[in-house]
Amino acid sequence: METMEQTSMQRYFPSTDGNVEDRQQIVSWIEQLLSGMDALKDPDRVHLKGDKQRGEQFYQNLIENSHIPYRSGSMEQVNEKLIDLMKDHPFHTKRFITNILPMASTPGIVGMMAAMLLNGNNLWDVYGPAGAEAEVSVISMMSKLIGYDHTKSGGYTTWGGQGAVFTGLRAAIAKFAPYAMERGIPNHLYAFTSEAAHYSLLKSVEAVGMGRDKLVKVACNTDSSMNMEDLKEKMKRVIELGGVPIYIVATTGTTDAMGIDDLAEVYETSEKIANAHGLRRPHIHADSALGGFFAFFNTYDFEHNPLGFTPQALQALEQISGKLNKLALADSLCFDFQKLGQTPYVTSLFLVKDAADLEPMDLAPEETPYVGHRGYGQYHTGYTLECSRMASAVSMMAALTAFGIEGYQRLLGQFVEVSCAVREGLAQIPGVEVVNPDNPGITTLFRIYPEGAPRYQQEISGTCSIYDLKRNNMLNEMLFERLGERRNEMFFGDTKKHLNVRSAEGETLSLYASKVFIISPYTERKDVPDIIQYVKERVAETFKNWEQLMYMRGAV
Ligand SMILES: *Cc1c(COP(=O)(O)O)cnc(C)c1O
Repeated sequence: METMEQTSMQRYFPSTDGNVEDRQQIVSWIEQLLSGMDALKDPDRVHLKGDKQRGEQFYQNLIENSHIPYRSGSMEQVNEKLIDLMKDHPFHTKRFITNILPMASTPGIVGMMAAMLLNGNNLWDVYGPAGAEAEVSVISMMSKLIGYDHTKSGGYTTWGGQGAVFTGLRAAIAKFAPYAMERGIPNHLYAFTSEAAHYSLLKSVEAVGMGRDKLVKVACNTDSSMNMEDLKEKMKRVIELGGVPIYIVATTGTTDAMGIDDLAEVYETSEKIANAHGLRRPHIHADSALGGFFAFFNTYDFEHNPLGFTPQALQALEQISGKLNKLALADSLCFDFQKLGQTPYVTSLFLVKDAADLEPMDLAPEETPYVGHRGYGQYHTGYTLECSRMASAVSMMAALTAFGIEGYQRLLGQFVEVSCAVREGLAQIPGVEVVNPDNPGITTLFRIYPEGAPRYQQEISGTCSIYDLKRNNMLNEMLFERLGERRNEMFFGDTKKHLNVRSAEGETLSLYASKVFIISPYTERKDVPDIIQYVKERVAETFKNWEQLMYMRGAV
């Protein structure tokens, strides 16, 4: 086939006639990028190779020295730049155990590429039919998975788990104060979530104009789930003072400890209290951004264990699944595909049980003059906060198609198996204790304790002195430092917000904990001894520093 005559700028664009030469050109550039990246890979490190001096002057230098080039460049030059950006970038090898920062799967990447090649705008189905088709389809698939009535449910892809929490709140406001959309938000509306919840709701109450004071934090049980007595008390107090509880975010898989709120209890408790006061039940959003993917085990045959998981992992999966199979009770929820769905950023799906919940937020046709006319069906997105939207559902669909339910079961099952082995290994190290023992899953939090010091059970029982709690936290912060210093060898996570505990003196304090987050498909059970040995060494170093510190303090 003849190549079309190109103007000088057309060479920067894909062809419109599908000619082989242009295609091969693009393939060769992608090949260049991939091989450039591959040359930086090392499976025994957690960063790509290459030097980057990210010292104190790093950003300052960039600010001073960045200019748009005057002359056009070649794709080879572009690739050189891109490969330079990759240098020393974190990468998800078997030693990458830091947080919910996954590797994007190949189907997820290819799906995203398909969306980018079309570059439709998911604002309207006429502009982005592929995105709309994939979106409607993925909403149906995920609704069926969790047990929503797929003929009634709705949703859309959005800007993160945080966007889903925000949209749930908008829906709640529209239900309880429909006039707020014209007149602004009244000041007697309240939202509730647990102390272990993600900060998304804190941002949302600010952004909708309710104000952060209107967010009521409910205490947690020791398994990081929401305490129902406290929810009851706090809802009552709000109502007695003239407030109206409109929104409860139940976290079904906390980001740190994998605590899972009991949706049935949240539902019943909030309904009972609302009814007793002549109010309607608050809108319940399940923040299932992370944990929701364990719904793939809803149909797993735990008795016959067809995928042959280890007994510990099987038990863990059954426990998680038992808590997550009530997701359908939530009025809305979320799947962050960029977390356990194995697709690139940002691919989040917001789902509502009843699509009619979105209607009050929709704009009238006269307010959206460019869009909505002669759409193919009932596909409007006047209710989304975004105007232009990426077709991220195409990537989700690719991943769902490639993995299937069984593929997700295998992968998540592997993460849980490895986590179980990590827990066993950590328990063998003197001074180390797992501090989310009731929440199996892919994340393990652990703390270290000086010899003879009160340990976890005492810490959560409220009998520890504030001195002991603070000292234990300080020791753990020293471990963070040890692990952090060498994070290019093995990349751990940590948190300073695991469980609020009370001291014997009555002060409240959060426990610090280090975190092992199994998230790379390349971390296998056979790698666990290596991880444990590594922790053992860092713990030993920490104790040594600790003794020196104590000695010096004693000497002063
Ligand atoms: C990650 C996470 C969020 C935030 O999601 P983004 O996609 O980062 O916006 C909210 N809630 C929970 C429970 C999460 O794990």
